[in-house]
Amino acid sequence: MISQDVVLVRYGEITLKDSWTRQNWERILAGNIAFSLKRAGVEHRMERGEGRIFVHTSDLLASEIIARVFGVVSASPAQTVASDLDEISRAAVELALLKKPDSFAIRPRRSGVSFSSEQIGRVVGDAVRIATGSLVDLDRPEMEIYVEARRGRSFIFTDIVKGVGGLPLGSQGTMLVLISGGIDSPVAAWMMMKRGCPVVLLHFDSRPYADAIEQCTRCSEVLAEWTSGRKIDFITIPISRGIEKIAAHYPKATCVLCRRLMYRIATEVMEIKECLGVVTGYSMGQVASQTADNILAEQAAVGVPVFHPLISLDKTEIVDLARKVGTYGITEETKSCTAVPKKPMTRAKRDEILRAEEVLGLREMAKDLVKEMIVTRIGQKDIADQDKSNWI
Ligand code: ATP
Ligand code: MG
Repeated sequence: MISQDVVLVRYGEITLKDSWTRQNWERILAGNIAFSLKRAGVEHRMERGEGRIFVHTSDLLASEIIARVFGVVSASPAQTVASDLDEISRAAVELALLKKPDSFAIRPRRSGVSFSSEQIGRVVGDAVRIATGSLVDLDRPEMEIYVEARRGRSFIFTDIVKGVGGLPLGSQGTMLVLISGGIDSPVAAWMMMKRGCPVVLLHFDSRPYADAIEQCTRCSEVLAEWTSGRKIDFITIPISRGIEKIAAHYPKATCVLCRRLMYRIATEVMEIKECLGVVTGYSMGQVASQTADNILAEQAAVGVPVFHPLISLDKTEIVDLARKVGTYGITEETKSCTAVPKKPMTRAKRDEILRAEEVLGLREMAKDLVKEMIVTRIGQKDIADQDKSNWI
């Protein structure tokens, strides 16, 4: 095991931004990392620069925690040494002696030092080869030793922990995610969080047709584990009165009209909670009601952006993501809505649906129902409570 004193944090797309955006997003990312570490009780000091965040800590849990922060491409627990070929060689030899691999490769990078990458490879490689008797194999080595030589200090490491990727949470606008208690919608929420959007979760309580309050609450708690300290608002609004009226008048179009009612209510909630878009767990053709015709009819003239981040994913891909997020086990047993007709409409006609919406007065109903919303704040401490004193 390396005697780690720092974790090198790499972030991808942020480095492509103009300097203002870049600085702003780096600051958000660093804040999110600091909070996540603090919450896990990991002592650390943070430093930014040279296209990296350096987290000074000897806690071996740090790199795994950092890798789960949105925006992080990878993290490497590393040892710091002077930018001197003898020092670098000594550290590399120590590392190699711990593992005594049959073969190894030195992976050098440099900036602001007088020696070349080729020199690092040769000098450090010779030292390791002589000390351990291992063979150099640049193509398929048993052990890779990375050297990043920089002005004033160098870093030696062997592991690159893959990060979750995406953009720092809080770098984009807030989304209102419709969650139903099934497998898909919490994954959709996570996907938007991964692209930097804080989320507000909205569940339409459809009891007695369906009951998923418990599952939705637990999913909100799991999603709050990914927010680096931001709380998540979990909102419930009863919708059964609407379903009852729709099903009595337009039984075949129940799902499409119910969805229009949901979008109408969501539009109201968006204003109240200052969200910039609505998100669903739709996947094209997954069930009879999730067809292109229906999506068109459901969203026509709704007037706000509706995002479907899972639209092109297969069920197996969504299930894999749900496992990664941690919501799979919770949503597995959610029962389907009993208001769904035996043969749900799959090719809704936009004009007919818009007329039905008028006849039923869904817009007015939405304004009434939104008054019944209940907001629960889920999560731990606020990001504002974060102690920033550990910066260097
Ligand atoms: P999930 O998408 O959660 O796995 P599902 O596939 O059973 O559930 P559908 O009933 O087909 O979902 O609904 C598709 C999408 O509509 C959901 O992903 C969710 O975004 C939204 N939705 C459905 N029912 C509700 C509800 N009761 N409250 C909030 N949103 C809902
Ligand atoms: Mg679904």
